[in-house]
This record gives sequence, structure tokens and C-alpha cells, in this order.
Amino acid sequence: MPIYEFRCGECGGKFSEIRRMGEDLGGPCPHCQSLNTKKMISTFASITSRSADACPSASGCSSAGSG
Ligand SMILES: [Zn+2]
Repeated sequence: MPIYEFRCGECGGKFSEIRRMGEDLGGPCPHCQSLNTKKMISTFASITSRSADACPSASGCSSAGSG
């Protein structure tokens, strides 16, 4: 089950709760027991692997000039 992050609108405290998929409502704030909580949009960083730009040197043909 996914863990959503919630933010309290009263004290501004953040807490995470395990919610079911689709459940946007969070429980009461564990700090001040306020129900004024909102789900935060969780952002996850994507790992990008940068590979060296290695190009095989091809001894190729040179373009011939037009006559
Ligand atoms: Zn609170």
C-alpha cells in the first residue's frame, strides 16, 4: 500500500499515512488532532544514467565534390 504525505492546515505539521489507492482523505493531525489536513503531492526523483558519448570512429568515405 502506498504511503501518502499529508500536511496539516492548522499547525503546518507533516505526517505520512498509509492509505488505499484512491483515498485522498487523511486522518487527524497527530500533532494537534485537527482534521484540516491535505494530501501532498509526492515527488520522486528519477535516476538518469548518463553514458559517455562514445562514437565508433568509422574511417569513412568523404563526400566527393561535385564537378
Ligand atoms: Zn496539526
